[in-house]
Amino acid sequence: MTVTATPVPILSDNYAWRLVDSETGAVAIVDPADAKAIIAALDAAGGRLDLILLTHHHADHIAGVEEVRARFGAPVVGAAADAHRLPKLDQAVKEGDTVTLGKARAQVIDTPGHTRGQINFFFPDGAVLLSGDTLFSLGCGRIIEGTPPEMYASLRKLAALPGDTLVCCGHEYTESNARFALHVDPDNAALKTRVAEARAQRAAGRPTVPSRLSDELAANPFLLAPDEASFAARRAAKDSF
Ligand SMILES: [Zn+2]
Repeated sequence: MTVTATPVPILSDNYAWRLVDSETGAVAIVDPADAKAIIAALDAAGGRLDLILLTHHHADHIAGVEEVRARFGAPVVGAAADAHRLPKLDQAVKEGDTVTLGKARAQVIDTPGHTRGQINFFFPDGAVLLSGDTLFSLGCGRIIEGTPPEMYASLRKLAALPGDTLVCCGHEYTESNARFALHVDPDNAALKTRVAEARAQRAAGRPTVPSRLSDELAANPFLLAPDEASFAARRAAKDSF
């Protein structure tokens, strides 16, 4: 029994994620912001959708929800804390809640910082983390609504997941994140290896994600920040880099 995750490129640099529970064939889509592209991708993969998962309220993550819901009749899961500014939720969740896809179960992790009501989903079977705009490859989300201590605490929660976790994030930001990461940590061999890999992936027209959490722990300057103050300083420096 396992969950597999496939990125669906949408808009200019967003990723929705198509998840499949291998045991039952149940399908979920995460952050379907472009209904036309999402419906085409789901139809091409067999025309099944059982669940819609939302990480946060920004339009580039939710804009296609109503059209996708109408087409497939799938229930929508999102943060209870942001229910007032998300599409109508069939399941409103918070930290510690469980979401079911076929026979697979995801843990809900509150990760405030980028937005106040940001949530991530972690499927232990398959080690799939839907990290939204909290954790990117070689970067992290801008702190738009929360505070640096909140974002730092959110990232530490994700850092504690198993090392083989697949980080399925909401944007293709890896190459621009790499420039800042190399500026902060120019002698980091693991970072240089990851940057070379990401550049080759982009040159071949492929996504750079998902990445492995163990690789992020060795190369991502926001996970490598030794304490909250240095995290906050790095995040502020990145904002004007
Ligand atoms: Zn966002």
